[in-house]
Amino acid sequence: MHYYYCPECGNKLINKQAGDDGLTPFCENCNKYWFDSFSTCVIILVTNEFNEVVLLKQSYLSDKYCTLVAGYMIPGENAENAARREVKEEIGVELESLNYAGTYWFEQKNLLMVGFIGKVQKCELKLSKEVDSAFWVKWQLVPDYIFPEHPDNAAYAIYKKYANQIVQAREMQPIC
Ligand SMILES: [Zn+2]
Repeated sequence: MHYYYCPECGNKLINKQAGDDGLTPFCENCNKYWFDSFSTCVIILVTNEFNEVVLLKQSYLSDKYCTLVAGYMIPGENAENAARREVKEEIGVELESLNYAGTYWFEQKNLLMVGFIGKVQKCELKLSKEVDSAFWVKWQLVPDYIFPEHPDNAAYAIYKKYANQIVQAREMQPIC
């Protein structure tokens, strides 16, 4: 979000040079810069020991496509804690491990998405009310269910990272 008025005092902002950041909205009343702001989400590909991936059906997002676990960060928590919290809230499992999988900009929603790959032992999922259904899918079949590949599609990018890890791990195994 770009600011035109001061969110604290309501004054009209002027553009003022802010060092290397260039012209930036500035409140002369509060003596404060107002840099563009955006929300931050975490998005987690949850996988198990059989290389299956948890996919979610959420009708408020799409009737056709499935998604990964995702949610908005809360001020005061770090992205890792947000990821563990969202996984626990949405599908009722505690992650055994969590690995960073890049950040992604979602233009449509002015949103920064922080990606992770989280591991659990295969288990029954306990769904939150905001999830219509969730199920384990073999990793090769994930592209059949999620939104198609697109520069804005963080889920697809994280899936590709995960798929590459599996392929590489298999190539490194000795042939006997
Ligand atoms: Zn102000």
